Amino acid sequence: MPTQVKQFQAESKRLLDLMIHSIYTHKEIFLRELISNASDAMDKRYYNAMQSGETGLDRSELEIGLAADKEARILVVSDAGCGMDAAELEDNLGIIAKSGSLEFKKGLESAEDIDVIGQFGVGFYAAFMVADEITVLTRKPGADKAYRWHSVGADGYTIEEAAKAEPGTEIILHIKPNAEEENYDEFLESYRLRELVKRYSDYIRYPIRMDVESSRPKTKPDTASGADAADEVLLDGADAAEEPEWETYTERQTLNSMSPLWKKHKSEITAEEYEAFYKDNFHDYEPPLKSIHSSTEGLSSYTALLFIPSQAPYNYYHKDYEKGLKLYASGVLIMEKCKDLLPDCFSFVRGLVDSQDLSLNISREMLQQDRQLKNIAKHLEKKIKSELKALMEDDREKYEKFWKAFGLQLKFALYQSFGMQRELLADLLLFQSTGSEKPVSLKEYAAAMPEGQKAIYYAGAASPEKLRTLPQAEKFTDKGYSILCLTDDVDEFLLKVLRDYEPETAEGEEQKHLAFRSIADAAADIADTEEKEELAAQIEEHKAVLEALQEKLAGKVSEVTLTNKLKSHAVCLSTKGDISLEMERVMQQQPHAGDVPIAKAEKVLEINAASPVLSKLREKYAADPSAADTYAELLYGQALLLEGFQPDDPAAFCAAVASLMA
Ligand code: ADP
Repeated sequence: MPTQVKQFQAESKRLLDLMIHSIYTHKEIFLRELISNASDAMDKRYYNAMQSGETGLDRSELEIGLAADKEARILVVSDAGCGMDAAELEDNLGIIAKSGSLEFKKGLESAEDIDVIGQFGVGFYAAFMVADEITVLTRKPGADKAYRWHSVGADGYTIEEAAKAEPGTEIILHIKPNAEEENYDEFLESYRLRELVKRYSDYIRYPIRMDVESSRPKTKPDTASGADAADEVLLDGADAAEEPEWETYTERQTLNSMSPLWKKHKSEITAEEYEAFYKDNFHDYEPPLKSIHSSTEGLSSYTALLFIPSQAPYNYYHKDYEKGLKLYASGVLIMEKCKDLLPDCFSFVRGLVDSQDLSLNISREMLQQDRQLKNIAKHLEKKIKSELKALMEDDREKYEKFWKAFGLQLKFALYQSFGMQRELLADLLLFQSTGSEKPVSLKEYAAAMPEGQKAIYYAGAASPEKLRTLPQAEKFTDKGYSILCLTDDVDEFLLKVLRDYEPETAEGEEQKHLAFRSIADAAADIADTEEKEELAAQIEEHKAVLEALQEKLAGKVSEVTLTNKLKSHAVCLSTKGDISLEMERVMQQQPHAGDVPIAKAEKVLEINAASPVLSKLREKYAADPSAADTYAELLYGQALLLEGFQPDDPAAFCAAVASLMA
C-alpha cells in the first residue's frame, strides 16, 4: 500500500488549525477525549460481540492503558476496543466525525469562542493541542491486518499497513516541547496524568491503568518477600536508627474509581459518604444541610446529586459568584459549572447531574441537547423546591438555618422575576411577625388568622419589638392580628409583586386571595361600618381646622385627616398609593442618576379622632386661627419621629414645643 500523504477534509483542517494554535487554557481535556473514545470503542466491541453471538469476550478484562515515556516525550493511550480498518481510519480521523463536531466548528468563528472546547470537547483532534505528531495503531478484532495512521498536523496524514498483536487501538502522541509560557512536560508526569483521570474520567466504567514508579525500602535478603516484610523493614529501620536502602519499583495502578457514588442506590449510601463526597468535591468545611439524590427515567434520564450548603460561600452575595452544577455525560465530566441547570433562586445549590442522553461531543444537534438540558433543569427546580418545603415542614430548625443563609436570595429572585416564580417560591418564604417568636411562613400566618381578618398585614421595622411601637400597630395587635415584620429592603417590593397570597383550600372551598396590606397604608382600615360612619361625621365637623392644617403643611403631606385606627397615639403618618415611606427610603439609597426624580410616597397626616389633642386643637383654633400653625408643626414633627424620621426643621419643631410648654 503506497504511503501517499492525504489531505484532511477542508472543515477538519480548519478545526485542526484551531487546535494546533489553540490558546485554550485547559488543553488537558485532550486526555478526557481520548479516554472517552477508548471507552466507547470497548463498548462497541462488546456490543458487536454480543450481536454476533461471540462468546469468550470477558468485559471485565477490558482496560484502558496509559503509558508515558518522558525521554522520548511519548504518551500512549491504548484500548482493547473495536479498532478501525483503513477505510474507517480515513472516515473517522480524516474528516470531522460525522458526529457533529462540524456543527461545533460552524459555531466557532473566532478564537475567543475556544472556551466551548472544554464544555463539549472536540474529540480526537483535541490531541493536537498537546502533540505535534500523532500515530494511531489499530486492529479490529478478528481482522488479520492492522493499520497505522500518522499525522504531523495540518499538512495531512498517511495510512499504512502495520503489525499489532492485540485487537484495539493505541493512540501514540508525541508531546510538544515546552514553549514560552506553555508547559507540556506535565502531560508526561504520572502524578499529573493521575490527577487528570481523577478529575475528568474517574467514572469511566473500564479501569484506566498505568505503570507507576514508586520507591520503597529495600527488603533484607533474609526476610520473606511481600507487603508484611516491607512493613517490618520500616520498623526495623526505625529501631536500628540506620537509613534503610530504597529501591524503585513499578506497579500497575488503576487510576479511576469507576463507580460513581451517585450511581449507587440511595439505600446503599450512608450520610457520612454523602458528606465526605460533598466536602471533597465542593470544597466546603461544613457538612451540607441537605443532600438530594434523585434519578429520573423517561423523557430525559439523569441522576442528580445535589447539596444545600449550610452556609453561604463568602462571595455568594457578590457579583463574581457563579452558580452551576457539574455536568456529566455517562460518567464523563463535560462541564464544570453548567449554569443553565439552576434557576437563580436556587443558585446556592451545589452538585452534579449525570445523563446518558447527553453526548460527550457537541455532536448531535445542539438544539436537542438544549432541550434535554431544559427538561432536566425544570425537573430539578421542582425537586429542589419540594425538598426545601419538606425540610421546612420536617426539620424547622434546619430550615431556619437555611433561610438565614439563603432566604435573601430567594426573595431577590422572586422579586426579580416579577413574581413569576411565585408558584415555586411563595411557600418557601419566612417572615418575622408580631404574632410569634419564631419566623412564620405565609401558610402558617394565614392559618393562624383570627375570624374577621381579611388581609395579611405588614410593616417595615427592624424587629417585631420595634414594630409594636409604631402608632398604627396597636389596634391590629389588640384585635389579635399578627403583623409581618419586614426587615430586608427587598421585602416590601417583593410583597408588591406577589400582590396576594392564596392559601391552600379544602376541597370544595372557595379559593381565597389574601391581599398584602401595609398597616401604614391610609386605606388599611379595620373599623366596622358604624365606626366608619362616625368617623366621616367627625371629619365633616372638623373640616375647617383640618383644612387649615393642610394648608400649613402643603408640599409635605397631601392630606390631613382624622382616623380611628390609633389608640394611645395622637397622630401618625400614613401613605396613599403604591409607594410607602419605607420604599421611598430604599429607593433613595439605591444608586440613581442625579437628574432622575425618585418616586415619592404620598403622605397623609392622620390625627386620632378620639385623642384629647383634637378637642384642644379645635378649641384653640376657634379662639385664634393662627394656632393651627403651631399645631401643624408639632403634629407633623411627632408623626415623623414615630416613623423613625427627623422633623424637617428640628429647630422650628423644638421652638413649637417650647412655646407650648411656656
Ligand atoms: P466522536 O467521538 O465525537 O465521534 P472523535 O473525533 O473523537 O469524535 O472520533 C471520531 C471517530 O473516530 C469516533 O466516532 C470513532 O468512530 C473513531 N475513534 C476514535 N477513537 C477511537 C478508538 N480509540 N477506537 C476506535 N475508534 C475510535
